[in-house]
Amino acid sequence: MIVNLSTTKKILREFDIKPKKRLGQHFLIDGNVLRKIIDIAKISNDDNVLEIGGGIGTLTEALLEKAKKVICVEYDNKLISVLKEVFKELNNLIIIQADALKYDFNPLIKRYSINKMVSNLPYNIALTLIFDMLNKYPEIKSYIVLVQAEIGERLTAKPKDKNYTAISVKMSLISEIKNYFRVSKNVFLPSPEVDSKVLEIHRKKFCYEQIDKNKLFKLINISFKHRRKKLVNSILSCKDWELSKAQTEKIIGEVIGNKGVRAEELSSEDFIKLYRTVQKQIQIWK
Ligand code: SAH
Repeated sequence: MIVNLSTTKKILREFDIKPKKRLGQHFLIDGNVLRKIIDIAKISNDDNVLEIGGGIGTLTEALLEKAKKVICVEYDNKLISVLKEVFKELNNLIIIQADALKYDFNPLIKRYSINKMVSNLPYNIALTLIFDMLNKYPEIKSYIVLVQAEIGERLTAKPKDKNYTAISVKMSLISEIKNYFRVSKNVFLPSPEVDSKVLEIHRKKFCYEQIDKNKLFKLINISFKHRRKKLVNSILSCKDWELSKAQTEKIIGEVIGNKGVRAEELSSEDFIKLYRTVQKQIQIWK
């Protein structure tokens, strides 16, 4: 087993690896946390699992015990050689060197029938990656991820929460998220600055009739552009917006019941209602 302090240190020493902060290289060293993640992921031998950021193979090793196939994507060439060496005798592992943010996963998903993702995600790509993948790849139904606590809070925040932003609203429209447990920063080597969280994200079909998802998302983005400002002022600061302040205030007053409301007070259903009311006006958006 890789998941313990001495084996991790040994691998890092043998392969002369100095963990790179820039790539969020924090390797899991706690077997209990690993087991809990694997339990939550409920992997069976029908599952073809994608792992992003394989590192030295800690999570990969546990996934390989349960899954039919594991498709592991790692950016760092040095870690790619570790993965290839550590798992050289296994034939149910596919190792790919790529930047997950720029990679087109479609061919891989089709070729290996990938249906799940389980990953300990690096801080700087987690938010964008999860959101993009949910939007781009309907075949992947569930994501079990270890992310920094603040990222987890942003993904799951509800109206008026401190971390409620455009991404929280958009995530609630395309997914259901279960917040499992907090993971101490001390179970990683090297230890990051903050704790992490384990989340299970299920893709939900976007099923609002006659709503163009991209335009709705644009409306949500501009609404949160100036989080502390009133909604009307955030919307008016968008150059594609053609209604006057009085007209916009009137609509917000009618739809939400308060023309001075801020975006952080609106639920996803409020945004749907607002969209339907301003539909004609945003028809021109590309
Ligand atoms: N899964 C391992 C390592 C997690 S650390 C464990 O749980 O111990 C995060 C990993 O993501 C690192 O190996 C890092 O090199 C990799 N990574 C960082 N940015 C990436 C990117 N853009 N694409 C793919 N992998 C990336």
